[in-house]
Amino acid sequence: MNNILHKRNIITAAIIVVVLFVSVSLSIYRFLNMDFKIYDNDIRMIVSKQKNEIEKGTYNKGSYPYIVFGLDGRVLYNGGAFEYKVGELLNTQEMLQTDKSFSVNNKHEIKESFVLEQHGNVNGFVVFLIPEKDILMESNSDRVINVFFPMIFGIFISVSIVVVRTLYFSRRILTPLKEISGSTKGIIAGNYDLEVIRTYEKQIGENEVGDLTYSFELMRDELKAKQIREEVLKKSQQELISCISHDLKTPISTIKAYSEGLRDGIARTPKAQEDYVNIIIGKTDLLIDMINELLEYSNAELNQLDINMKEVYFYEYFIPIMKELEVYVKQKNIDFSYEVNTRDMLVYIDKRRITEVLYNLVENSIKYMKEGRGSIVIEAEGQSGKVLIKVKDNGIGISPDDIPYVFDKFYRAEKSRSSSIPGSGLGLSICKYIIEEHGGEIYCKSRHNKGCEFGFTLK
Ligand code: ADP
Repeated sequence: MNNILHKRNIITAAIIVVVLFVSVSLSIYRFLNMDFKIYDNDIRMIVSKQKNEIEKGTYNKGSYPYIVFGLDGRVLYNGGAFEYKVGELLNTQEMLQTDKSFSVNNKHEIKESFVLEQHGNVNGFVVFLIPEKDILMESNSDRVINVFFPMIFGIFISVSIVVVRTLYFSRRILTPLKEISGSTKGIIAGNYDLEVIRTYEKQIGENEVGDLTYSFELMRDELKAKQIREEVLKKSQQELISCISHDLKTPISTIKAYSEGLRDGIARTPKAQEDYVNIIIGKTDLLIDMINELLEYSNAELNQLDINMKEVYFYEYFIPIMKELEVYVKQKNIDFSYEVNTRDMLVYIDKRRITEVLYNLVENSIKYMKEGRGSIVIEAEGQSGKVLIKVKDNGIGISPDDIPYVFDKFYRAEKSRSSSIPGSGLGLSICKYIIEEHGGEIYCKSRHNKGCEFGFTLK
């Protein structure tokens, strides 16, 4: 498994181990090679001021005891460093050197001698006695820092890495996790609006929590969309129930009225009785159509509308349908004409479903025809590899306010809602579903009272 967080933790730990190892090793190495020797230079530095004064002939007590004697060995000053009196002669050679007996008697003291000069002439010597610890402390404190510096630096780097990692952990891992937990609680309570930080675009692939945040947000979006869809569906189902009750009521009332007429002998002649029966049959057909439409809708809603597409020559499919429609429309006393210029064009369609769309559009044109001479024109033309089919009528038209919604389920334009024309508002939504399943588009154009144009494309 490609575990990014785990990998990063291992890398961080490895870096810290390496840094600490290198720095501590460097410190140990320096410590082992530390030079505890007493450097002449260090001593010179310590007593240089005092020595300058002595050269000028001023014998102050100073920080360290010393003895001054001339080139002949005569003691000029003794600050209690050695057991010689002023004026006494001492052995110059012996005094200037550090011999074994001195080291034994003065274990922790260092004898440091300097030549005294005045105006470029050597005129004597001074010998200081300096406690060893003073020099070690002074001169080695720098070296101690030098030895431990790599280790201190290594610890500093390691602590910085840990701090940065902790901050990263808190920002990129703990905070998103906390938000996910909060949002989850919200979802359980039915609130899908608690957003988790939307920095996930940057975080994708950065670590597992970034991935989780991203997937969580997708899930939340999906759940939210589902909730909205469910609400819309619930609302449309309520509308459907009221629409169905309203629309079914009209033909059923008619059927009831005519049946009662027959029962009560209102239709006396066989001709009148036949008319009554024909009306009852007509209304029953209408009911069947409406029920079929509802069935289609519920299948479309469940995305189960059976669509089997095949490659066909559009012209060969289209002409027989137009001939059928011509007879059907003309029976209703409405003019009908069609025009096709798509010879040799192949389309990939479910013939049964596209016929349904055509019938639906033509039925609507008939249904929403206005008084006077009605006319329906169907045109099919090839357009950049697609076929565009238009169904035009000179009916009541649709107002611009209604046009954006005519393909919505259960939507019925103002005019048809208030008229007695039966309908469920489902026909066009089913047409849209079928055309879109074919990869095509459907549109509506209309000028109120000037008729309608519905068009759709097929590939
Ligand atoms: P309905 O069952 O109401 O006809 P549709 O989905 O087929 O449902 O149509 C939706 C609405 O679009 C209709 O109620 C009507 O208002 C409007 N409409 C559809 N076709 C036409 C048309 N040819 N002329 C005028 N209005 C139309």
